[in-house]
Amino acid sequence: MATVSGPSSGSLGPEFSKLSGAGPSVKTTGMSDHDHDHDHDHGSELSEMQIRVRALETILTEKGYVDPAALDRIVEAYETKIGPHNGARVVAKAWVDPDFKRRLLEDASAAVGTLGYVSRVGDHLIAVENTPQVHNMVVCTLCSCYPWEVLGLPPVWYKSAPYRSRAVKDPRGVLTDFGIALPKQMEIRVWDSTAETRFLVLPMRPKGAEGWSEEKLAELVTRDSMIGTGFAKDPAEIAP
Ligand code: FE
Repeated sequence: MATVSGPSSGSLGPEFSKLSGAGPSVKTTGMSDHDHDHDHDHGSELSEMQIRVRALETILTEKGYVDPAALDRIVEAYETKIGPHNGARVVAKAWVDPDFKRRLLEDASAAVGTLGYVSRVGDHLIAVENTPQVHNMVVCTLCSCYPWEVLGLPPVWYKSAPYRSRAVKDPRGVLTDFGIALPKQMEIRVWDSTAETRFLVLPMRPKGAEGWSEEKLAELVTRDSMIGTGFAKDPAEIAP
């Protein structure tokens, strides 16, 4: 039996136990970032982060700062409407429409906006193009900044400390871990996202998809290919 201790319960104060519904002693799954000198039994349903999020949500709701129904709609949007399929459409359009590609590389926020994907206020989206000479890869070394409007929710590994530090120190090694082997002479550029500036990788269009429709091409564009930790799919994988 593990207990949530230290800054998480302490900083949230007495309301925490009310929110967690489990009294002062709450089991966790041990998914937190803090240093552990105690044992977890990994037996509960909620991670410490989930408990903290619930606690915050309940406090903000009780104080009237947020409307739970509005939160539900936002979460639903990210679960069902906003995801990497949006970015895939952007990439596929850039592959078939040279004018759109030029606008995308010039000002990705504006170009993506013309397709109806609106970024949050203050975000500035930059598209970086992979070529036979240059491979681009995106990280947020500080936390987990990510182009949500085109890629949806970030994968868990994107937020992990090893990815965030190694992507900068050893990008080639990280790519190898992802199964990506690049020629030695290929330059790797690593882009560090911030709260203001997000990056979208424009992967190379794979050979073997000549004459494909934009819609069909979008099926080749994976989330990882737009982060730079993968390539677009081989058309043979999805060809009828
Ligand atoms: Fe960040």
